[in-house]
Amino acid sequence: MPESNKEALQRLDAAHHLHPFTDGRALQQKGTRVIERGEGVYLWDADGNRILDGMAGLWCVNLGYGRQELIDAANAQLQRLPYYNLFFQTTHPPAAELAATLAGLLPGDLQHVFFTGSGSECNDTVVRMVRHFWAEQGSPERQVIISRHNAYHGSTLAGASLGGMKPMHAQGGLPLPDMVHIDQPYHFGEGQGIDPEKFGLERARQLELKILELGPERVAAFIGEPIQGAGGVIIPPASYWPEIQRICKKYDILLVADEVICGFGRTGHWFASEYYGLEPDLLCMAKGMTSGYIPLGAVAVGRRVAETLINGGEFFHGFTYSGHPVACAVAQACIEVMQKEHIVERVRDDIGPYLQQRWASLGDHPLVGETRGLGLLAALELVADKTTLAPFPTDAGAGIICREHCFEQGLVMRAVGDTMIISPPLVISREQVDELIHKARQALDLTLSTLEQPTRKAP
Ligand SMILES: *Cc1c(COP(=O)(O)O)cnc(C)c1O
Repeated sequence: MPESNKEALQRLDAAHHLHPFTDGRALQQKGTRVIERGEGVYLWDADGNRILDGMAGLWCVNLGYGRQELIDAANAQLQRLPYYNLFFQTTHPPAAELAATLAGLLPGDLQHVFFTGSGSECNDTVVRMVRHFWAEQGSPERQVIISRHNAYHGSTLAGASLGGMKPMHAQGGLPLPDMVHIDQPYHFGEGQGIDPEKFGLERARQLELKILELGPERVAAFIGEPIQGAGGVIIPPASYWPEIQRICKKYDILLVADEVICGFGRTGHWFASEYYGLEPDLLCMAKGMTSGYIPLGAVAVGRRVAETLINGGEFFHGFTYSGHPVACAVAQACIEVMQKEHIVERVRDDIGPYLQQRWASLGDHPLVGETRGLGLLAALELVADKTTLAPFPTDAGAGIICREHCFEQGLVMRAVGDTMIISPPLVISREQVDELIHKARQALDLTLSTLEQPTRKAP
């Protein structure tokens, strides 16, 4: 048989393409999945299968695939001014206009933005900004940034160091100096048997203990995702964030909200800081900003830090593509669509609650130990014993088995260990939510029968 187009692509890919976050040998054995086309909440692979994208790409395709407004905005900007930089006292209309639009959407006193090309670049920018800030304040010894185990803050050196992913730290001698971690507020995984609110307070108070251990005069900032995304959609107990905020204020430590996933409507608010009543000094955004159509990120900066940056001499930091005009034009168009179609309000009042109610119905499945979610983020925990909530042994690979069954059913759902997570496009309809839940349940049934086969091979 002659080689198909798909097989030819797989061969080229295997010969020349190094994939992000991929076990190369496993991939070569299996053959890459080839995605060819997207429309609305659906993808089509090279075999013509239609797949419901329950992850919105990587948490970013919030308006779904193929939105003409975004394509037109990119096209028009490409024709008018495809590139110019913002260094050396220059701006261009898309950057200036988007900065002002974002200032109008951001909570608290976040009235300035620094543009980047990604979430990782946001967090590298945060590290340089907070250290520069404290040096300008006359406290250059304030260098330490406190984060959390199992946080995700990106893949650059600073992003991976601030993140709390052990396998990432193990490759390449991370974390960098003066980046330390406390425990995460993951009640299902680490707080079984403890009252959730008490657990939330205990985890938040680890911040105070860490500050006292290091010496408050050495601590620059605390960084956290309002809801941990890549770590498994971990929603902290209500007691957690107010206590973190209190401790940051008490020791005059900058609070950084990494809203790369939570921002742009994902939780039913423009930013999750509003939902949690947080007043961050810095706020990172990226995924969802352009609905993933073009890379873009931004660090929003509160009054205190912005004044110091503006008056503190030159800040030696910037990217060639900071505030790329095409990306800014697409972000502006994206925000306009979201406003015109009341997408954030719809997530808060209609489709978010609907998804959460339907998602919770999966809780009766024999494999499911917990369901949780907010807005259009949701997770469920696969367990070996529904009564005791005992987990599967790691080598059972329950999460990966479930993920593969989801794909066979035409649904993208992601596995973080044995936590199954979704983050669908914000434009998903009720019928499509029903389809997602139906496919998820089928995948759970198939996972159960696979796990019950005594002679099954490890995935
Ligand atoms: C994805 C993510 C990042 C990294 O963003 P990239 O655009 O992949 O560099 C940072 N922080 C959080 C919370 C993320 O989810």
